[in-house]
Amino acid sequence: MAIPLIGIPTYATLSNTTHRPLYANNRSYARAVQRAGGAPVFIPLSEDDYLGAICETLVAKLDGLLLSGGADIDPASYHEERLPFCGAIEPERDALELALTRKAMERGLPIFGICRGMQLLNVACGGSLYQDIVSQRTESLRHPQMEHPRDYRAHSIRIDEKSRLATILDTQTHQVNSLHHQAVKDAGAGLTVTAWAEDGVAEALEARDYPYALAVQYHPEELVESDPLSHALFVAFVEACRK
Ligand code: MN
Repeated sequence: MAIPLIGIPTYATLSNTTHRPLYANNRSYARAVQRAGGAPVFIPLSEDDYLGAICETLVAKLDGLLLSGGADIDPASYHEERLPFCGAIEPERDALELALTRKAMERGLPIFGICRGMQLLNVACGGSLYQDIVSQRTESLRHPQMEHPRDYRAHSIRIDEKSRLATILDTQTHQVNSLHHQAVKDAGAGLTVTAWAEDGVAEALEARDYPYALAVQYHPEELVESDPLSHALFVAFVEACRK
């Protein structure tokens, strides 16, 4: 049985030891895809002016696209001024992920978005974001719980019973980790919010009338060893990529 190829875009960073520039992403994404039966492929950033052609070539070979967590998306991508509490941005990464996502959607490729990846999917479809939950939604519970281990289950979510997420997890509530200070504001074209934290902050996003595009605001890749439902999310994605 062929193993689906799952593209995972990277970001620019520096080696801790040699200080040389790297394109990298967290091992936990690659491991979670492998555990679920997929073959992860890390995709470097591109400084070339033929980014569109590179994305076209990649998307033609890939069976699925995993959009990972990471830095904030440039608010210019959703036509807003950058507010003081917006974090550092990485324009080259935005460019690669937006181009890849749009090409992938033209081809009906399965997409799994995680944290920034959920926000990226939303922006790629014309949606907008809260640039900082703490300052823009002052009644919210504390979503950026970075001081805890990454698998710390910070809050519960309520899942729309008719959603794909509820079908995969076979539940309408779940306890999840929370490592984000931004969130989806208005959903993009063709997208629906399908899970919420107790304070109404969006915790999952799905595409209607599309083969498979599901995104979560939490980090299931950090939970796969302790939480069978997080593993199930990766299995469902890899199965969709197999078709
Ligand atoms: Mn949260």
